Amino acid sequence: MTQPMTSPSEYSFSRTIPVDESYDLVVAGGGPAGTAAAVCAARLGLKTLLVEASGCLGGMGTSGLVASFGPVSDGERMLVGGFMKELLETMWRQKAFGPHVVREFLDGQLNRWVPFKPEHLKRILDDFAVAAGVELRFFTRLIEADVQDGRVRGVVLSNVEGLRYVKARTFVDATGDAALAALAGAECKVVLRDTDSVAPSTLCSLFGGMRWDDPAYGDDWRGIDAAKARTKTELLERAIADGHFTQADLFMPGMNKIGERTASLNAGHVFNLNPLSSRSLSDGMVFGRKLAVEYLEFFRKYVPGCADLELLATAPVMGVRDSRRIVGEFELGIEDFRNRRQFPDQIAVYNRPTDVHPTDTSKAEYERFLRDFDGKDNLGRGNSVGIPYSILVPRGSQNLWVAGRCHSSDTKVHGSIRAQSAAYMMGQAVGTAAAQSVASGEPACDLDTQVLVEKLREHGAYLPQKALARTMTR
Ligand SMILES: Cc1cc2nc3c(=O)[nH]c(=O)nc-3n(C[C@H](O)[C@H](O)[C@H](O)COP(=O)(O)OP(=O)(O)OC[C@H]3O[C@@H](n4cnc5c(N)ncnc54)[C@H](O)[C@@H]3O)c2cc1C
Repeated sequence: MTQPMTSPSEYSFSRTIPVDESYDLVVAGGGPAGTAAAVCAARLGLKTLLVEASGCLGGMGTSGLVASFGPVSDGERMLVGGFMKELLETMWRQKAFGPHVVREFLDGQLNRWVPFKPEHLKRILDDFAVAAGVELRFFTRLIEADVQDGRVRGVVLSNVEGLRYVKARTFVDATGDAALAALAGAECKVVLRDTDSVAPSTLCSLFGGMRWDDPAYGDDWRGIDAAKARTKTELLERAIADGHFTQADLFMPGMNKIGERTASLNAGHVFNLNPLSSRSLSDGMVFGRKLAVEYLEFFRKYVPGCADLELLATAPVMGVRDSRRIVGEFELGIEDFRNRRQFPDQIAVYNRPTDVHPTDTSKAEYERFLRDFDGKDNLGRGNSVGIPYSILVPRGSQNLWVAGRCHSSDTKVHGSIRAQSAAYMMGQAVGTAAAQSVASGEPACDLDTQVLVEKLREHGAYLPQKALARTMTR
């Protein structure tokens, strides 16, 4: 029923909407974090609903065409375990990686990104979710939270059927933007320019007609070897000097080899985009598509082996690196990272440089990025930082967890552990925590973390900490 206008800038209304069936767990967002959370919780017996705004699982890795996992090894051994390891092994068996990916990418190469075919990943995640008994609700957006006495009691979903109220005992926010946490009134940090250095966004794209066998090119263009890095920078600088690009962006993250003739491109920063503004996102999509064509023409004209390149598609969603994060029970900070700190309640360990992209096109920012990436913020061989449970718990939360991009860390650490490989591990941890909470009645903010760590180990997580603790790191 609509109500009269409360003011010229506000409109209030109330409606009665149908109540759907109840669940043990509702997961909002089916990216890496949400998919792992839902599958792992369902495998542990929770009646689980996974709500996803798009039409597939995988988030940035599929819808966003970010077709490369951040490193999964510390240079000596595979660091990821549990669900993420199972996913890697399945992708390896099914040949879902780029054709040049060898076992060493997974088992023992330092700072090695792992390219994959996004379409294949979609189907593997479908299979995992269906086999686990997760109820999937695609094209469905979570738009409101019902909080009573400090607990989230239910959420409002919007889809082709209209609005629905869904009750659950526990909730996971894996929306990337901390959308549910914010709606539930959890304290959040909005990461925008002037308050913190906001990482720029990128609209990723897909290309055909690539000549990966051209000797001048090699297997990827990430600049892993110094000679290629120099060539890449030289070519970009030449094109910029020629006035080829709209903006003089010196940093092009990567062209990933995902097939014998295909590639996914992570290039074209959309600076100063506000990921929490639909207008800014819309403007960003228009600009991103324009940049994709500029990169197509750049490759055709300046890069060996690319004369026949074709732009097959840009992603249907903006590649947002950072937007809103929760204020958690603990914030993982850069000193923890540089000290390679391990925690009794860690639910994963990880090794990836702090990949905080330049925030503008200045040379100073580009050089700052390179210094961090290759220097003090690179953990090095055989090392890792622990990801404690407490960065996934909004302060004082009873029955809501977050996982993935919207966890609690500072900007630099976020630049490392926002990677898909880490997001899958966080997802498994909160799905497991929700199952523990449903069984024991323990609130999220006071969960027995020793039990959680032991359960995660039982399910294959690699958690090398010697000392465990019953309470989380604060
Ligand atoms: C351009 C770019 C390049 C990157 N490069 C790499 C890389 O090379 N390797 C790597 O490992 N990582 C990379 N990352 C980081 C990584 O992709 C993300 O940080 C990671 O996917 C985060 O996982 P997530 O599950 O938290 O969120 P996402 O992958 O963003 O998934 C969130 C999901 O939630 C859904 N959603 C959002 N709001 C709602 C709502 N209200 N209701 C329902 N559903 C909702 C979205 O549709 C989406 O599917 C990159 C990121 C970007 C943007």
